[in-house]
Order: sequence, then structure tokens, then C-alpha cells
Amino acid sequence: KLFNELQELKGNIRVFCRVRPFLPGQGAPNTVVEHVGEDGELVVTNPTRPGKDGLRQFRFNKVYSPDATQGVHLLPASEVFSDIKPLVRSVLDGFNVCIFAYGQTGSGKTYTMTGPDGASEEDWGVNYRALNDLFKISQSRKGNINYEVGVQMVEIYNEQVLDLLSDDISQKKYPFSTSWILSATSENGLAVPDASMYPVTSTSDVITLMDIGLQNRSVGATAMNERSSRSHSIVTVHVRGKDMKTGSVLYGNLHLVDLAGSERVDRSEVKGDRLREAQHINKSLSSLGDVIFSLASKSSHIPYRNSKLTQLLQSSLGGRAKTLMFVQLNPDTTSYSESMSTLKFAERVS
Ligand code: ADP
Ligand code: MG
Repeated sequence: KLFNELQELKGNIRVFCRVRPFLPGQGAPNTVVEHVGEDGELVVTNPTRPGKDGLRQFRFNKVYSPDATQGVHLLPASEVFSDIKPLVRSVLDGFNVCIFAYGQTGSGKTYTMTGPDGASEEDWGVNYRALNDLFKISQSRKGNINYEVGVQMVEIYNEQVLDLLSDDISQKKYPFSTSWILSATSENGLAVPDASMYPVTSTSDVITLMDIGLQNRSVGATAMNERSSRSHSIVTVHVRGKDMKTGSVLYGNLHLVDLAGSERVDRSEVKGDRLREAQHINKSLSSLGDVIFSLASKSSHIPYRNSKLTQLLQSSLGGRAKTLMFVQLNPDTTSYSESMSTLKFAERVS
């Protein structure tokens, strides 16, 4: 409902801001967040300029305070996934949808998209909940529209696309059959690389696949957390629905994107690989910002081709596609300047 109301007001791009809570052991909490409004208002304060002069106000489609929960079955009013449900439904209606998490490392991107490590169902992130819902809705339409669902998982690191479900590793653990979806993607001209695609029929299939993907992500990386904060990870869900009365077929896809950390790297302090990584991240995040900004301002030229990220997501950005960006904040005063640059990015694209 929220989504549809907002859609009347703005195009197909929505920005939700989520402030993560202070973590146990993080020291005496000093927050920059002054106010979180039900209407999407966020006020932050500059810790070096106390008083009125240090206040900045932002407005997004929605702001979640630190006590917002992941789910839809717990009590508090703010439940992140309840605002996403309509998007899942539109994928099954034949729309392309893209959900991002943007923010500095440690701001809660992975928590929002996947959940904490070893999450129980209560803590599941958007990925699992979206797929879970997708299966539920498709079951309820069975007989009228019959659906097939396939999943891909890739990582973009230094402008290279890596298949996280490559056959040699996953084939042993998952039945292999990909043909219908691959032909569906080429018919539709979707810009998905030749990454492995696996059919899924249940949430537990999805959990199995994502576990494999996460394992593969750490292969060859010296420190997984380090690496995962410097690459973008993308789960792509392809849906094909066949109307059993008319025989017509619809396609929809859903991209779930955990972006690389947006923190600025001090050029004077890094060299070599680290500098190259930082430059690639910078370029792809600013290309993403440019694409969304051009779409929002209805520009005639949309610069999709400036990065692998925007090329890969092209079918889910613009046109009839629906885009949702989670802007993640670490509320600590020590993160103030990163938070400001995150908020400025978000302000530009919303
Ligand atoms: P990122 O992916 O942006 O680097 P993470 O999702 O890994 O950040 O979050 C950093 C830490 O904060 C993790 O320990 C995570 O479990 C915790 N965290 C993030 N968001 C929340 C939240 N909403 N509630 C509880 N813990 C959170
Ligand atoms: Mg992360």
C-alpha cells in the first residue's frame, strides 16, 4: 500500500533509510541521530557543532529507527519487510525489481539483505523473506498461473563478474538443470552474464544455494569480511509464469544487491591493489548514483554503460522497473562524515 501510494507521487525509485542500533561493546553510544519521523524525516546533528547550527534535515520515503525489526510477524510498528511485500508481488505480475543496500562498511547492509550470521527465521533478511513470499504467492495462484523460479548469484569485484554458483562446486550439492531460464533470458535480452542458474521450488532450496554462494565468495579471499566489503554481491531471481487459460507467458526478475562499502579511502594512505579496488568501487557506486539520478530527473540519456554494476542491472533500473534503495547508517558520532556522504548520495537519488 505504501509503495503504491508513493508511486503516484514519484517515479519508480524509492529510498528507505535504516539506522542500525548500537552494538554491544561499541562503547558509550553517542548518536548523530536527533529525530526519526514516521513521515520519512531524519534529522542528524554534527557532533562538532552542537546546537541548532549543527542540525541537518533529510526526507526519504521511509526512515527506520534502530529498533525496527526485520520481520512482519513481530510487534513493533516499524517492520522492514512489510514495506517490501508489494514489490515481491509485482515480480510475479511481470515487473522487474531491484533492491539495494547502500552504506559504509558496518552500517548494516548485509544485516538488512541477508540477516545476521546464522540467522533464525525471525532475523531473516530481505533475500530470504522475498523468496519465501514469492513461493507463497505463486502457490496461491497455482492452476491459474503456474510459475517457475530460478536463481543466480554473482559478485562484482574490480569490474569483473564472478559466478558464485559455478557448476564445478555446486553441481555436487544441487541438481543441475538450467535450460528454460537461459532461453527465457536471451529472449528478453536481459543483461545477465553467463552465470549458473538453478531452479528453486522452496525457501529451503534458496537457503541451500545462498549458503553455497556465500562459501564460494570466501574462496581465495584472505579475509572474507574484508573482501565482501569491497565487492558487490547480487542475487538474481528469475520468474516465468504461464497463464493456464490463455497460454500466455510473463517474465519478471528481482535483483537483490548488497553493495560494496561506500566509505572514502584516503588516497595518500593506500597503494596498489587496495587503491585499485577503491577506484573501482568509487566508479561503480557513482555510476549507480548517476543512473538513478538520470532516471529520477527523467533525463533522455541514462548512462548504464559506465560500470559493470549498472550494465548488469539495466533491465531492473528504469522503464517499468521498480527500484528500492536501503540507505544504511551507523549512528555513531565517529561515523558522522561517512553518514553525511551516504545521506547526500541518497538525497541526490531520491
Ligand atoms: P555491512 O554489511 O554494511 O558491512 P553488517 O550488516 O555486517 O554491515 O552489520 C555490521 C554489524 O552490525 C553486524 O554485527 C550486524 O549483525 C550488526 N547489525 C547491523 N544492523 C543491525 C540491526 N538492525 N540490528 C542488530 N544488529 C545489527
Ligand atoms: Mg556486508
